[in-house]
Amino acid sequence: MLIIFDLDDTLIDTSGCLTHYKLEEALQAMVSAGLTVPNFSAALELLRRIDRSAESAKSALEEFVDIHGFDEYILEVGVKEIYEKPFSDLPVFPVDGALELLYDLGQQHQLALVTVGKYLYQMEKLKKAGIDSRIFSKISVIEDRNKKPHYQRIVDELGYASTEVLVCGDRISIDLFPARELGFKTVQMLWGRGLNSLKSRGDVDYFISKIGELKDIVNALVTFTSF
Ligand SMILES: [Mg+2]
Repeated sequence: MLIIFDLDDTLIDTSGCLTHYKLEEALQAMVSAGLTVPNFSAALELLRRIDRSAESAKSALEEFVDIHGFDEYILEVGVKEIYEKPFSDLPVFPVDGALELLYDLGQQHQLALVTVGKYLYQMEKLKKAGIDSRIFSKISVIEDRNKKPHYQRIVDELGYASTEVLVCGDRISIDLFPARELGFKTVQMLWGRGLNSLKSRGDVDYFISKIGELKDIVNALVTFTSF
């Protein structure tokens, strides 16, 4: 089988390790750029609360800036701080069981990674989390959030039929819908933003709350279908 993973909040604990801190840096940058808030701590608490139920850190910032009636420029400053500034002083941890799972699955299956972000940062996250990038036959770091053509290209290049492919990610709209459209099996990791992604759950084949549970799903698929 070919198993394609998402990175953030699927293999690594992005919400717990990075987003929490990056939101503070973003707010600081927006304040320096002219955003006025009566109380920094209260504003940060509000921003983090909005983020917990947001699709992305960017949409949380949009809502926050909207509430305060500030313009696009302030929003851009915050978005840049989150997505384009290095995070060299912050540790990044894999989710529990990720390293073991990748090692186990990698023995019998081909693995790939399709992740949204800046190439250097995504590769740095992998390294910090202790995930050896060589475990993946293909890695695609994309900035446009449309994973479908990248899934298709990887599957074509590695020579799989759509029925032999499984995608595991936390966000239904970005990770799993395009996979479903291509006829792949889909597994939602209920972690980080995946916990907010409650819509359209009928369109996902499996749900897991620990990444290690993926192994049983893969084994069952291999046993009961004709790979
Ligand atoms: Mg993700």
